[in-house]
Amino acid sequence: MPAATTAPAFEGWFATDDDGDTHLIGGKCTQCATYVFPPRETNCPNPACDSDTLALVPLSRRGTVWSYTENRYAPPPPYPSPDPFVPFAVAAVELADEGLIVLGKVVEGTLAADLTVGMAMELTTMTLYVDDDGVERTTHAWRIAQ
Ligand SMILES: [Zn+2]
Repeated sequence: MPAATTAPAFEGWFATDDDGDTHLIGGKCTQCATYVFPPRETNCPNPACDSDTLALVPLSRRGTVWSYTENRYAPPPPYPSPDPFVPFAVAAVELADEGLIVLGKVVEGTLAADLTVGMAMELTTMTLYVDDDGVERTTHAWRIAQ
């Protein structure tokens, strides 16, 4: 049996450095410094800016909970969902340096009752689903900061 392999569910959304720390990758406007996530290299989101060039940059690994909720129903296809479905929390986290709010799943074992607005969170990854080839597809996720 081949060794289990992993791959990102969404190519280019995060990277892991030599220390094993994962950071998100965002787009940063080269003209007005506005950030965007998921990353893209064109079309600044600032309506007052006409730049069409965004640089791909690493984003803060930490932030604070801006809002959160708990998903108690399996999302409909094509969203991959484990069977049986297990409720999970989703947090909108305001990144420390960029002020950008990034939505993400919260790691297994942490539900809405465990979260509060303003709580410090840090980035990690988790398996989103296992594809037809047995590859664990990973995505960014939030966990309560250590
Ligand atoms: Zn701009």
